[in-house]
Amino acid sequence: MSNFFRERVTHVHHWTESLFSFRTSRDQSFRFDSGQFTMLGLEIDGRPLMRAYSLASATYEDELEFFSIKVPDGPLTSRLQHLKDGDQVLIGRKATGTLVHHNLLPGKRLYLLGTGTGLAPFLSVIKDPETYERFETVILVHGCRQVAELAYGEMITEGLPNDEFVGAFVKKQLVYYPTVTREPFVNRGRITDLIASGRLFEDTAQPALDSEHDRIEICGSPEMVKDLRGYFLSLGFEEGSGSKPGHFVVEKAFADA
Ligand SMILES: Cc1cc2nc3c(=O)[nH]c(=O)nc-3n(C[C@H](O)[C@H](O)[C@H](O)COP(=O)(O)OP(=O)(O)OC[C@H]3O[C@@H](n4cnc5c(N)ncnc54)[C@H](O)[C@@H]3O)c2cc1C
Repeated sequence: MSNFFRERVTHVHHWTESLFSFRTSRDQSFRFDSGQFTMLGLEIDGRPLMRAYSLASATYEDELEFFSIKVPDGPLTSRLQHLKDGDQVLIGRKATGTLVHHNLLPGKRLYLLGTGTGLAPFLSVIKDPETYERFETVILVHGCRQVAELAYGEMITEGLPNDEFVGAFVKKQLVYYPTVTREPFVNRGRITDLIASGRLFEDTAQPALDSEHDRIEICGSPEMVKDLRGYFLSLGFEEGSGSKPGHFVVEKAFADA
């Protein structure tokens, strides 16, 4: 188990029947960059059962936060969903991932496009002062099927603007655009359609996409990632990586079935 920290659950919040969040203690030596993921899991019969999880907390926070799906027959989440305060979880010592600032070229606007639990890495990114130093405007788009699944909406619109550390940046530079596909809501439709139709830019009062100024981070279902990646490549945007920064970066919110 030496690859893992043993941490304690400090808080659990259930959003819906299929989504929950929890916080854990954080080993002082654990370091990560906003947007990265690590391995998280439980010790079952003496063996670690681990899955990739995005870090939803800020890099400077004392505790770690995770935003999780509950898959009814999922090996890990069928158990993880029953977590309570004080329970032990295993957390990988190494964080990694492509959704990091240094994989993107400098730009004016940063679009963070997430569906479902694909919001998680962006919760860390929007709490990072460096995000607002690098970009003039940050547009966070969260797509879900139902309104109840738009987790963290209140934290983003009410908590964060009053945050001591990043509140001033958030008030001036963060635009939050939640959208749902399956029921009435102020914003409706799939992220892919909202971008292709130009609706997202009209609604958020942003200019049309331009590879000179716009940078994009994408995190969602394998299908959403594939569609958006293809779309941005067709517009001439280049995908960034650790070896060569580009106009956009992608991460699947979960692996293909
Ligand atoms: C880079 C990366 C980062 C990830 N970050 C997160 C995260 O922050 N939060 C999180 O809940 N999951 C995340 N996942 C998915 C996670 O690793 C597990 O798949 C998930 O916890 C379910 O585990 P399981 O063992 O219960 O079921 P699994 O056997 O892992 O998954 C069973 C099936 O459930 C579906 N599924 C799995 N995860 C999700 C999801 N997040 N949303 C919708 N459907 C899903 C898929 O169809 C999958 O085939 C991430 C995956 C990757 C590759």
